[in-house]
Amino acid sequence: MFKIIVHQCYYCEQIFDSKEALFEHVEVHSDVERNREITNRKKKAKKS
Ligand SMILES: [Zn+2]
Repeated sequence: MFKIIVHQCYYCEQIFDSKEALFEHVEVHSDVERNREITNRKKKAKKS
């Protein structure tokens, strides 16, 4: 029995054929999350 090992992004469920490709892709999500957090903090700071 042959099973293809796939690497799936747990953020957007996109599938990659290598662990390296997945890691590189996940970086994009973590950057987006970080930027969103910073933007939210800036917005909160402006309000108060
Ligand atoms: Zn993704």
